[in-house]
Amino acid sequence: MILRTKDALYDQSWQWHLKNSLTNIEELAEALNIKLPDVPTNFPLLVPLPYLNRIKKGDPNDPLLLQILPIGKENMPTQGFLKDPLEEVSQTKSHGIIHKYHGRVLIVATGSCAINCRYCFRRHFPYNEYKLSKKDWREIEEYVTKDPSIKEIILSGGDPLIMTDKRLNEFIGRIKELKQVTHLRVHTRLPIVIPQRVTEDLISWAGETKLRTIFVIHANHANELDDAVGSAILRLRSANVSVLNQSVLLKGINANLKSLVDLSWRLSNLGVIPYYLHLLDKVSGSAHFDVPEELGIQLVDQMTAQLPGYLVPKLVREVPDAPAKVQIRG
Ligand code: SF4
Repeated sequence: MILRTKDALYDQSWQWHLKNSLTNIEELAEALNIKLPDVPTNFPLLVPLPYLNRIKKGDPNDPLLLQILPIGKENMPTQGFLKDPLEEVSQTKSHGIIHKYHGRVLIVATGSCAINCRYCFRRHFPYNEYKLSKKDWREIEEYVTKDPSIKEIILSGGDPLIMTDKRLNEFIGRIKELKQVTHLRVHTRLPIVIPQRVTEDLISWAGETKLRTIFVIHANHANELDDAVGSAILRLRSANVSVLNQSVLLKGINANLKSLVDLSWRLSNLGVIPYYLHLLDKVSGSAHFDVPEELGIQLVDQMTAQLPGYLVPKLVREVPDAPAKVQIRG
């Protein structure tokens, strides 16, 4: 079902939007008034209506459309592009825990997302093997308790905000019991793609926790940040949640100076710090988005010449087995 007016769109709950996301290419083509190819893929189309509403009608090159549209190039194998480029499957210690870096652990809290981003480095990740049960939570608690260096828990996915606030509240309650843990980080794209997800209940668990809470949102282009997203971010910030953004440098979407500068200013106007600009993780099916490292360096150098330092994200690459993200520039 496609809602025709903005008001009707924004009056719905986030759960309604999850259920009514667009999954069919013909409907997408009709909504955008363009011809689109119907490409067989094992990573299906999934786009929620608030995000769809920001795509320019009649423009097959719209930077938001290209992030969600399956195309034939995804099915062409490319040398160097792998199913698990960051070797996360082998680094998963027990159900749901990925412990790559000192002092923090990442928990794959759920396998679901509200949107399928074509460049996603976890597009082949065996999420079904990482559905968290109560037993898994006990294992996570034991794992963290045995390593006093762990100060931060990162909830990731999929998108952890797919879970209900009741369930998240339970998880956070258990994390709070771990005295050594002082920081909670939530990696999420939901406030961008369905801003209605930032509910009063979310604000209460995110804002009231004794943990220092940081939301790392994910926007790649300024057009993703409309007024509804702005007000969702404001609600988070009013609850003392720090909000950072990470982007991926993507050919055809944001790999030019204007797009990156516009994104940084727009984020800043919403009180969000542009944190990381990632070089693409070489996951199979995403080679057409790849940007050479030299171009990434040039772009960040040009941003540095145009923007205050706090608006220039760090250009980084993830390397399996490295003790931290490899910082290239910024
Ligand atoms: S929201 Fe994040 S985890 Fe989900 S598909 Fe997009 S990039 Fe991947």
